[in-house]
Amino acid sequence: MTRPDFKQEAQALFDDMVALRRDFHMHPELGFQEHRTSGIVADTLAGLGMEVQRGVGQTGVVGLLEGAKPGPVVMMRFDMDALPIQEESDIPYASQNPGVMHACGHDGHTAMGLTLARIMTKYQDQIAGTLKFVFQPAEEGLGGAFAMIADGVLENPRPDVAFAMHVWTATPYGKVRVRSGPVMASSSVFSITVQGRGGHGAAPHQANDPILAAAHIVTALQSIVSRNTNPQDSVVVSIGQFSAGTTFNVIPDKAMLKGTVRSYNEELHRQTYRRILEMAVNMATAFSCEAHMETLAIVAAVNNAEEPTTAVYDAAAHVMGEENILDERTMASEDMGYMLEEVPGCYFFVGGQNEELGFDYPHHHPKFNFDERALVDGVAVMANAAANYVMKNNA
Ligand SMILES: [Zn+2]
Ligand SMILES: [Zn+2]
Repeated sequence: MTRPDFKQEAQALFDDMVALRRDFHMHPELGFQEHRTSGIVADTLAGLGMEVQRGVGQTGVVGLLEGAKPGPVVMMRFDMDALPIQEESDIPYASQNPGVMHACGHDGHTAMGLTLARIMTKYQDQIAGTLKFVFQPAEEGLGGAFAMIADGVLENPRPDVAFAMHVWTATPYGKVRVRSGPVMASSSVFSITVQGRGGHGAAPHQANDPILAAAHIVTALQSIVSRNTNPQDSVVVSIGQFSAGTTFNVIPDKAMLKGTVRSYNEELHRQTYRRILEMAVNMATAFSCEAHMETLAIVAAVNNAEEPTTAVYDAAAHVMGEENILDERTMASEDMGYMLEEVPGCYFFVGGQNEELGFDYPHHHPKFNFDERALVDGVAVMANAAANYVMKNNA
């Protein structure tokens, strides 16, 4: 038997898939609050005749598609959550939920997952193995992968291989990024509280100004990458939040910084973290203040295993042409890293950028959008990658 033409199958469902994506886009939900979204997901999977588990990791959903014959268990994971961002685009399907927006493309991922489920169900009698469709909540720094793992998503049945993907606006439509090894960075989020002594803005000598100390800390931290890190290695230190004070003539009691470290290498990550702590504490002391550092979140790097990456590479070459496969990685991070620490797999990126249509805003931007034709590419590549495991006889 020859393998189904999954690209054609996905293309045939394009209108439905776009309608689904736009519906999710209009009704975005924050992490662990994806009640409407996960309800639609669970009902759709159940409607396809799958065994469905709801409430895995709070709002997560798992659907099992058992093939006609035994074989490997292939997990495919899609994230469902939106971000606390006010959408600024004027598209007709803009967010109807003030302050919440699908600014990362997870609306597309959810639509792709359901479309894949629809397609693969048709071929149930040709499948040797099990397809495990995993719809994850709270990917955006809230620990959704952890919650699902804690609820047993990687057991009963345990996946032999796992795939996940991201629509990517840093990559042009028609291209796909596939590579083995680390593809997304490990990330940690920290806060630094600088405790000083408040006072009158006109009498700074009687106060210990935490704003001045924190400003020096921000500047000093930028020397860690340039002065403490081997130039051959990649690491990022960013401070994204600086809050202090209430008005112009009062020196406040404390200042608060929040930032993130990104790297592909755990040792380098720890070393960078140690330097941040040393600098913050000692710099604060120099200004007669005190600094306390706290870790708010840690996400593992996403590491792709050799064999599943080859399966995705072959799938991408088949669907999109080998010349459209890019060997690139990113300093962004993803909690899929935790699942891939347990199960070998491949995380890949599907190009969704289209400058002519204005789809080139970065992820998490209030005007973020992507070329929806990327949804077809993503479905077709993942279907073929899965088929490399469960439809081996239909080469
Ligand atoms: Zn994101
Ligand atoms: Zn994302």
